[in-house]
Amino acid sequence: MAPKRRWKTLLSGNFIQLLGIVSHPLSPVGSARARHAPPGIRSHPPMSARVPHGSVSQNACTLPILSYHKVDEIPRDARFSCNYVWPRQFAAQLRLLRRAGFVSISLADYCAHRDGLLALPARPIVITFDDGYRSNYSVAVPLLERYGFRATFFIVSDYLGRTNAWDDERQEPLLSSEQIIAMHQAGFEIQSHTRTHARLPTLSVDRAREELAGSRAALENLIQAPVKAIAYPWGAYDESTIQLARDAGYSAGVIVRRRTNFSDTPIFALRRIGINYETSYARFAWDLFRLRWRGA
Ligand SMILES: [Zn+2]
Repeated sequence: MAPKRRWKTLLSGNFIQLLGIVSHPLSPVGSARARHAPPGIRSHPPMSARVPHGSVSQNACTLPILSYHKVDEIPRDARFSCNYVWPRQFAAQLRLLRRAGFVSISLADYCAHRDGLLALPARPIVITFDDGYRSNYSVAVPLLERYGFRATFFIVSDYLGRTNAWDDERQEPLLSSEQIIAMHQAGFEIQSHTRTHARLPTLSVDRAREELAGSRAALENLIQAPVKAIAYPWGAYDESTIQLARDAGYSAGVIVRRRTNFSDTPIFALRRIGINYETSYARFAWDLFRLRWRGA
């Protein structure tokens, strides 16, 4: 074993002990799927159906949410390389999550839990992706499948099958309608990132309403299932954005902030831990450990 790899193995072992794997053995769902499931999209029940009801201790109330954009090699002409995580890096992160006993849930599951309707696994996590890049389908989903995880994808509903024309980053293909439907049918969660990736607080009330309600309606029509969570583009939101999101029928909103979520975290400002290629393996593990107790 190469010295670097040995160090990494030792480190992950220590962190996994810190994360409590001894008292929380691997989830049967995660480990069984990982042994038998080849990568690739297959039909799969929705995440909520897989959550073992009643198996949770009531004190398991912290929820880390991870925020990704692209799992892919970083092109030479990328302007915002912080939107990338390398595939091998993502695989290592998923291996750590699996060994530490994390079970992916959906935001819909979490909302149901906050409403007192659903028990969560002992160590829940939500893995999210913003913008809906096509590489989510070709690179991230097979890796998630391989390690027994599901994830939530925030889609810009006017841009299906197009490119990220809302920014001046190199243009990359976005998911097509068919790919989004296939992901939904495979048990991945589809949620909204507005119609045009708009900076909501800068819009008139009418236009902000249209971005929020129009995106929800389009995505619900596409997947024939509820769309109830919004990721505010550019992380831009204020109190009036939240009210408009509520009025448009959403139940939750997510932002990026390096904290975990507790039962009293505002449901329209759920914190997500941003992950990018500069997130070291040690930092990733340490954040998951220390943030379990970190509040405001
Ligand atoms: Zn975005």
